Amino acid sequence: MIRKTRLFTPGPTPLLPAAQFAMAAADLHHRTPEFRALYVRVLEQLRTFIGTKNDVILMACSGSGVMEASVANITSPGDRVLVLSAGKFGERWTGIAKAYNCDVDLVSVPYGQTFSLDAVKAALKVETRAVYMQANESSTGTRHDVEGVAKLLQDAKSDAVLVVDAITGLGTTHFDADAWGVDIMIGGSQKAVMIPPGLAYCSVSEKAWELMGNALNPRYYFDLRKERKNAAKGESSYTPAISLIAGLSTALDYIASQADGDLAAGRAKLVNNAETIAAMTRAAVEALGLKLFSASPGAALTAVLPPAGVDSGVVVKELKSRFGAIITNGQGEMKGQLFRIAHIGYFDYLDTIAIIGALEQVAAKSLKLPGFEFGKALAAAQQTFAERTSVTQPELAAAR
Ligand SMILES: *Cc1c(COP(=O)(O)O)cnc(C)c1O
Repeated sequence: MIRKTRLFTPGPTPLLPAAQFAMAAADLHHRTPEFRALYVRVLEQLRTFIGTKNDVILMACSGSGVMEASVANITSPGDRVLVLSAGKFGERWTGIAKAYNCDVDLVSVPYGQTFSLDAVKAALKVETRAVYMQANESSTGTRHDVEGVAKLLQDAKSDAVLVVDAITGLGTTHFDADAWGVDIMIGGSQKAVMIPPGLAYCSVSEKAWELMGNALNPRYYFDLRKERKNAAKGESSYTPAISLIAGLSTALDYIASQADGDLAAGRAKLVNNAETIAAMTRAAVEALGLKLFSASPGAALTAVLPPAGVDSGVVVKELKSRFGAIITNGQGEMKGQLFRIAHIGYFDYLDTIAIIGALEQVAAKSLKLPGFEFGKALAAAQQTFAERTSVTQPELAAAR
């Protein structure tokens, strides 16, 4: 059979065709009224997409660049920071904080788990300047409790700012960043917003802006305060990634169009979409007799354990070679031990049914699962879809 290549990866994610056309057509200079209008518009759209009234800063870099900015701009050498780590991306916070000579307190739990709020509370100190966490740990598929951590900081009347890497949390999780008190919320272009890598963005609270005034760590390109000043004039400090910005605006228009032009409602719909696809996928793999890796799975992706004695690379390779479906293996030390199927961004019902169907074919050929039968995973996914969407219980009963 012929193969169509399709991404089922948690970043880069599949591209929105309308955004690709907008990128190809973006032939403009950045010191012009045309670009300024686009830039002001996209910053406003991002504010709605994040769900905040705070300033939003957009930069030409991958997500890790703005993660670094959120350390460089907030801290001074010797500052105590608290890192909550449960996987590869949590470890990245520790690496960045150490590179800026912060004194790192660490709450660390094994891959696949999430930290208890009691452990966070115990590790929080009066002098903690910032708390760094992921909303969703993409290496394990685990959702962390951002609201719980935010509340804990409020209850403790902590001076610390809460910095959330929501790079795979945005568009897959219902957040209320301002009400919860998230100070910096970070996103990236190659995830929920359906465009290629190269842009990262963050919201910044008043409290965080104030802290920056006396932060002594060095920064030049990643100077958030300079970026804020220029953004107020509709400009970026340096040459922006113009075509990506045009694509981003179009993608956010698409998300709004899913809810009659209301971007906040479209964002909620996108999150519910990911939740439904994640639930379908979990039901499907469990129906096959496979186990989930994460104890508290989020909706950005599903991490699945291969059967005992099977390398997860078998599933990754066979989905690609037979069906053109690109999924991801475990990262780093988890390579061979799990495979990950993404739901973040531009995925729909038909994509989901297709990848589950292909996974059944791989299982039939290579996984030797006891009691395997074609259709079990698909039936579980169909049932989940029907229950979570418009098919009512009486309709389901009548269909039997
Ligand atoms: C993708 C991702 C990042 C950013 O990685 P970059 O390669 O720098 O874009 C950070 N955190 C999480 C949780 C991610 O999924």
